[in-house]
Amino acid sequence: MYFNDHIKTFGVSVLLLISITAKSQQIQYDQEVSKYYNEGIAYFNDGDYHAANAAFRNALATNMVLPTNLSYYFAETLYYIRQFQNSRNFVEKYINLAGYGGDFYEEAIHLRELIDGEFQKIKDCQRCNSFGYRLISCERCETTGEEVTECPECKGTGNTLCPKCTGKGVLITLDAFNQNHYETCDKCQGEGVIVCELCEGHKEITRTCSLCLGTGIRTSNAICNHEDEDEDEDEDEQQELFQKKKVYRQ
Ligand SMILES: [Zn+2]
Ligand SMILES: [Zn+2]
Ligand SMILES: [Zn+2]
Ligand SMILES: [Zn+2]
Repeated sequence: MYFNDHIKTFGVSVLLLISITAKSQQIQYDQEVSKYYNEGIAYFNDGDYHAANAAFRNALATNMVLPTNLSYYFAETLYYIRQFQNSRNFVEKYINLAGYGGDFYEEAIHLRELIDGEFQKIKDCQRCNSFGYRLISCERCETTGEEVTECPECKGTGNTLCPKCTGKGVLITLDAFNQNHYETCDKCQGEGVIVCELCEGHKEITRTCSLCLGTGIRTSNAICNHEDEDEDEDEDEQQELFQKKKVYRQ
């Protein structure tokens, strides 16, 4: 999950390089590419998919011509670490590049079915977003969708400077004899301050939660297993989460 963005960024150029490879025979791969590729396959065969993921990504990051089979190995690796969207992209690319004659053609077709099955599970699951990341209750607003913050207008004091006397508390006018005439400000009763109009003196304002944008739930970094884990959550809460998820996905 940490590498999603990187993969997206250089995915296009990498896939282009794989395309070139597919058309040419007997390509001599760069030493660095071969090293990471073989390393990746070794980890893959050992079942260490996180290490395999790292090795294949290193190969991709070289921006050099890559073996076509790498896209299959990488796709299957991504499937095991539950990065289904990336996995889908790479398996699709592999099928396009290698065609029926590819070393892993049948495996690739099967893998694609498995991935689509996972997408269906995500769609049916009430506890993850459309990318399969677990949805959790927003801790900032405690699922209310609103947060209370200090009033920005009065900086939490509840008062603002009187606009009529600019805080002096008195109004100064010239009388008929051109003399200063002092009069207690009628807007603030000489206080120099008035009750803040934004918070009406409450010192705080309620606004839409900036973490969950008012939905009450937010996406976590955890990949969803599509199972209910919180035993203390009752059915009502689950129902509520589901309703919120519908709004969230719009
Ligand atoms: Zn005043
Ligand atoms: Zn205020
Ligand atoms: Zn919130
Ligand atoms: Zn789920």
